[in-house]
Amino acid sequence: MKILANDGISPSGKEKLKSAGFSVVTEKVEQDQLADAINNEGYVGLLVRSATTVRKELIDQCPGLKIIGRGGVGMDNIDVEYAREKGLKVFNTPASSSQSVAELVIAQMFSLSRSLHDANRQMPKTGAEDFKALKKKYGKGTELRGKTLGIVGFGRIGRSLAQYALGCGMKVVAYDMYWNDKPVKFKIEGHGDIEVKVPFSEMDQLLENSDYISLHVPKQDDGQAVIGSEQLKKIKRNAILINASRGGVVDEDALLEAFEEEEIRYAALDVFENEPTPREDLLTHDKISATPHIGAATLEAQDRIGVELADNIIEALGESVQQQ
Ligand code: NAD
Repeated sequence: MKILANDGISPSGKEKLKSAGFSVVTEKVEQDQLADAINNEGYVGLLVRSATTVRKELIDQCPGLKIIGRGGVGMDNIDVEYAREKGLKVFNTPASSSQSVAELVIAQMFSLSRSLHDANRQMPKTGAEDFKALKKKYGKGTELRGKTLGIVGFGRIGRSLAQYALGCGMKVVAYDMYWNDKPVKFKIEGHGDIEVKVPFSEMDQLLENSDYISLHVPKQDDGQAVIGSEQLKKIKRNAILINASRGGVVDEDALLEAFEEEEIRYAALDVFENEPTPREDLLTHDKISATPHIGAATLEAQDRIGVELADNIIEALGESVQQQ
C-alpha cells in the first residue's frame, strides 16, 4: 500500500510505516497535479502539513484514497466533514507540537523583554560606531519573574505554556470560552510532579492586568479577530502581545494602529493573515518580532508528529497491508 507524504514526514515516522509494510513517497507533487499522481500511483493515504490543501474536488477526483492525515493541529486546509461523509478516515496529530509552540512563545517573551529582536537588527549596522547609543536604547529591559502572563485559549498549547511561565516565576491567568479548571501538571526533574490550578480571568480583566498576552485559540468560525482595536485599547500600555495561533486571530491593521497610538510595547507574530505572503509593514516594523510559522517546527515535534501519523495509519490500514 502506498502513502504519499506530500509535505514530508520525519525519518522515524517513515521507518515505522515501512516496517509495517507500507511504501512511503515524500517527493512533493504540485497541488494541480495531485489528483493525477494519487490516481496513477495508486496512493491510499495522503499525508499533508499546512502547505498542501485537500478540498472537495480532490476528494471527488480520487476514489481510491482512504486516508488523509494532517501532521499538526489545525485542519483548515482539509474539507474534513466532506471527506468523512465520503468514508475517508481523516486525522491530525494535535498533541505532538504543543511543547514546541510553548517554547517559541517563551523564547519571544524573553527576547522581546530585552528588545533582542531590534538589537539584533541594529548591532550589525551601527554597533561599531554607536555602541553607547545602542546600549542606552536597549538598556531598559524587563524581567519575566513576577510579571503576569494572560493566556487566551487554555487548551493543549495554553496549558503547556503555563508550565514554562510558572517555572519562570510568573503569575499566570487564563481565559477560555469553555473553561476547564483541571490543574496544570508538570514534572520538575528530580523533584517529582507539580500540580497548579491556574486562575480563570474574564477576557477584559486579562487584557487590563497582563504584562504579556499570548493567544492559543483556533481560527474563529466566523473569521473574526479575537484581538481587534477594541481589545488592544484595553491592554496595558507596556504589554507584549504574542500570536502563535492562527493568522487573523489578531487584526493586523488594528495592531499597527495600536503601535502608532503607543497602546502596546511589542508584538511577536508567528502566523499571518496572508500566509505565505505576509505584509511587509508587519515584517519590517521595529516593534514586531516575526517568525515564518515555525511554532511546531522543531526536530522533536516533527519526530513525534511523524510517529503519530504512522501509528494512525497502521491502526487504520495495518490489517489490510498484512493481507496483501
Ligand atoms: P486546543 O483545541 O487544545 O485549545 C484551543 C482552546 O481555545 C480551546 O480550549 C477552546 O475552547 C479555546 N477557544 C476557542 N476560541 C476561543 C475564544 N474565542 N476565546 C477563548 N478561548 C477560545 O488547541 P491547541 O492545540 O492548544 O492549539 C491552539 C492554536 O494553536 C490552534 O489555532 C492551532 O492551529 C495553533 N497552532 C499553531 C502552531 C504554530 O506553528 N504556530 C502549531 C500548532 C498549533
